Amino acid sequence: MIHSGFRFFQLIVLKVGINSLRSLFFPACLSLVCCLSCRSVPDSPISGETVAMNTFVTVNIYDTGTNFENASTWIDSAFAEIKRIEEMATHYSNTSEIGRINYHAGVDSVAVSEELVSLLEESLKFAEESGGAFNVAVGPIVQAWDFLAEQPRVPERERIDKLLPLIDYRLISMNGNKVYLQKKGMSLDLGGIAKGYAVDRAVDVLKAGGFKRFIVDLGGNLGVFWEGTRLIDSAAARILVRHPRKEGEFFGSFKMGSGGVATSGDYQQYFMAEGVRYHHIIDPTIGYPARGVVSVTAMAPDGITADAFSTLVFVLGRDRGMEVIKNTPGIEGMIIYEDDGMLNVDLSPGLQELFMRNYSHD
Ligand code: AMP
Ligand code: MG
Repeated sequence: MIHSGFRFFQLIVLKVGINSLRSLFFPACLSLVCCLSCRSVPDSPISGETVAMNTFVTVNIYDTGTNFENASTWIDSAFAEIKRIEEMATHYSNTSEIGRINYHAGVDSVAVSEELVSLLEESLKFAEESGGAFNVAVGPIVQAWDFLAEQPRVPERERIDKLLPLIDYRLISMNGNKVYLQKKGMSLDLGGIAKGYAVDRAVDVLKAGGFKRFIVDLGGNLGVFWEGTRLIDSAAARILVRHPRKEGEFFGSFKMGSGGVATSGDYQQYFMAEGVRYHHIIDPTIGYPARGVVSVTAMAPDGITADAFSTLVFVLGRDRGMEVIKNTPGIEGMIIYEDDGMLNVDLSPGLQELFMRNYSHD
């Protein structure tokens, strides 16, 4: 669906907690909201919305004097690109490339596209760099937790312990375009990186269309392109960060220029059992949800890096996570954590001047 005349302070849906697509239609699920900080743009961007990768996708083009028909065609192409990546990378199908790799785990190698080889190589690079905190072999454990079930339950400890040897990313063999999971029962899950990758490809499509000011939002992963700006810049977008514990309220906001931003939070897919919150971001060393952090928002020059970093920093936790952000050139981030029932935030140096906390809800 493509339209112009979008209201100036439009909401861009970020990081929706998905138990089903039904829940997507409640604005309370918004986790980040983006609005413009630059006033020298048309009040009415040309906009398109669709659903892909189990979430909302929105594109807004802010170039002045844009031809509506032409922009609509390019937005459709960007959506088609996202859906193409979904078809390649989903683990909810036995026929997608990832589905075929998983189906043949422990039996045979599977020939896949060069594109998927590159995406897996990137994923393994993040795994190495994070000491395994980022781990696309986490599939069997995510399935055991089954966060999307009607009534999810804490799996038995023995079951988790049995699965742990299957989530070793070093057992992913890659030889040319052939991928082999060395043990039966292994499975890849690109949920922590595929949306960021798809954002980048959609950004490329719109750049090829000649657009110079636009924002792609794929369910919590933003790609901002604003010619002449850098990531740490107040020229383009203002990002409102959802309050992790108060739906519909904002914890704070920051400004940014061209780049990617993603949030991983313990409120996005979770259930409560005996007063304990169990969420979808797994610490691969124990097979249980990572503890110590409430949400991480990561900014990077591109979407794939922002997506991987939001997940891996969450798993590494407050101290090690912030250390990794600070030690990685081009990355900025914020970590929200709970201390004595109060929410607090750690900010990377680049964000310190740009972030404004919203105290109105306290
Ligand atoms: P995100 O929302 O980007 O943090 O990604 C979370 C999703 O990534 C989960 O729903 C899982 O599909 C997958 N996942 C969970 N734990 C990990 C992990 N430690 N490393 C990589 N992917 C993970
Ligand atoms: Mg991620």
